[in-house]
Amino acid sequence: MKHRPSFPSRLNVLADGSHVAAGQRPGAIKTTGQNVRTKSIAGSAARPSGQTAAQVLQRTPDPISTRRNMVRKLADRGLSDPRVMAAIGIVERHRFVDSALQAQAYEDTSLPIGLGQTISKPGVVARMVELLRDGCEGKLGRVLEIGTGCGYQAAVLSLVATEVYSIERLRWLHDKARDNLRYLRLANLHLLFGDGMAGFAKGAPYAGIIAAAGGDEIPQAWTDQLAVGGRLVAPVLVAGGKPAQQALLVIDKTALGLRRAVFEAVHFVPLKSGVA
Ligand code: SAH
Repeated sequence: MKHRPSFPSRLNVLADGSHVAAGQRPGAIKTTGQNVRTKSIAGSAARPSGQTAAQVLQRTPDPISTRRNMVRKLADRGLSDPRVMAAIGIVERHRFVDSALQAQAYEDTSLPIGLGQTISKPGVVARMVELLRDGCEGKLGRVLEIGTGCGYQAAVLSLVATEVYSIERLRWLHDKARDNLRYLRLANLHLLFGDGMAGFAKGAPYAGIIAAAGGDEIPQAWTDQLAVGGRLVAPVLVAGGKPAQQALLVIDKTALGLRRAVFEAVHFVPLKSGVA
């Protein structure tokens, strides 16, 4: 296990502009101006609309054993970070997809989450988060995620890092992620609505930056906001291929500059500018 530098676990100023006194935990998953911890997550709040609990249970795979199987399959494929494995075992992926897709929630497949976007394959989430952590022994420091989507990866990240800022450019998905995540009551996860191309300077420097959408290149704001000793993991278009091919790019920020390494091919939705 490699040692990673530690970073401040918490900001004094939160995304919504509120202040947190030293040693005091921020209240809950912060969204732009809203605190989602206030409502109970029991019962119908966490359930797809119009269904009885019995109907949901009938369709939903036995969550504990299916997640255990999923973790076993990931381990068979060589994934090994114990904290990432534990997080994948904890987060209930079926809660992040539409009720009609819940039977497929624990397969290693990406699934539609609305507005043409997808929840990443659990294998890809595990792989990217493991790369991001780079063998870190404890929790990773502060992390920025670009592309909250349904919030699944944000949940996994918040179990393996001290603080997570996750940005989504589509308002509908930002709201949906907040609903999906309510049941976990993650006090260290802050959901932001905005264009992640600019990163989130208020939270910088980050120990890790991870993108769930791929562009032609990495925006400079991201590497600027990375701490020295920090790591960025993102899909990016690699030159030459037709049709254009994406691959996982890892950038380490060292005292001497940026070190880039390209890993396996991936398929992510495009990184887009602006909000909608
Ligand atoms: N990790 C997510 C995957 C979401 S798909 C999950 O677990 O569900 C990628 C997301 O990136 C989409 O929701 C898309 O709207 C978002 N996205 C694309 N470009 C963006 C940008 N510039 N800023 C913020 N989000 C962006």
